[in-house]
Amino acid sequence: MSGVDEVVRPEGGSMRELLRVGPGAVDLAALDPRSTPGLPAAAGRGEGRKEWARAQVELLGAGLGRQQEMLYAAAKGAAGPETPASAPSQADAHLAGGRPQRVLLVLQAMDCGGKDGTIKRVAGAMNPLGLHIRSFGPPTGEELRHDFLWRIRRALPPPGYVGIFNRSHYEDVLVARVESLVDEATWQARYDLINDFERELADGAVTLVKVMLHISYVEQGERLMERLTDPTKYWKFNPSDLDTRARWDDYQAAYADALTRCGTDTAPWLVVPADRKWYRDWAVSHLLRETFDALHLGYPPADFDVDRERQRLRSGSGTTKVNSG
Ligand code: AMP
Ligand code: MG
Repeated sequence: MSGVDEVVRPEGGSMRELLRVGPGAVDLAALDPRSTPGLPAAAGRGEGRKEWARAQVELLGAGLGRQQEMLYAAAKGAAGPETPASAPSQADAHLAGGRPQRVLLVLQAMDCGGKDGTIKRVAGAMNPLGLHIRSFGPPTGEELRHDFLWRIRRALPPPGYVGIFNRSHYEDVLVARVESLVDEATWQARYDLINDFERELADGAVTLVKVMLHISYVEQGERLMERLTDPTKYWKFNPSDLDTRARWDDYQAAYADALTRCGTDTAPWLVVPADRKWYRDWAVSHLLRETFDALHLGYPPADFDVDRERQRLRSGSGTTKVNSG
């Protein structure tokens, strides 16, 4: 394919529609980690698709950067949450009921699923100033003294920010369940608590994009071996990754339950086939683009008299100190 200079839409529907799982029981084994839903014919065939997708991700990235800036700008110019809500005006059309929006990308995956790579590629296109990226490891002593959502609430992006969660509250129904870190009654109760929490987020103008990067057992094995072969990748390896791998089926079952029980209309689960990194990045880029598009963002109007400020600048009051040093 030559002359890739514009974004080509996914084929067969939006990526949100194509990758959404449920309603009903989710069967991960039926979703091929090497498949490429939505990839248009324009991508070509075979190896060429990789190059095509990479070029598209670059183009998509420029758009994501612009949209993210609009989100950030809207929050900067908006009245804070303490200010009484004023009557909605044309100027507030880019805000939900006058409240600045937030977007939160939740990334879940088995080890080597590509969470870090996705963040590097997709978030790399956006302005770091407006990003709020948080990773979740085993809870600290202080975190364990609170309920499981406590650390999650504290990590939410402020209005106007794009948040990215590298792992999330879902670990509390994944690793916590498989490794029996809590008793069954405790993790069983968490699905409903998560659904309540996510509804609360949606009501607070947080748009969730919940993505499971779906890799195969074989692909994980290859990526782990890479980490054990290339000395520049040792840092990515943790011996406990092999213990987790040994319980692959239990983790897949726990994932399937989380997707089934917490895939809601307000916060659907999206499964991105992730054995092919180029497809993964392309798919997640489109998911974010669609999310931004649905927010109908725009740059906020000036909250000052533009003509008057121009006049002041011309008449010298804004220029006298320039180049004085
Ligand atoms: P990584 O993402 O490779 O840096 O690994 C983070 C580790 O933290 C993984 O092994 C997760 O399973 C673990 N982790 C994350 N959240 C929790 C949690 N809520 N409870 C226990 N372990 C967790
Ligand atoms: Mg790891």
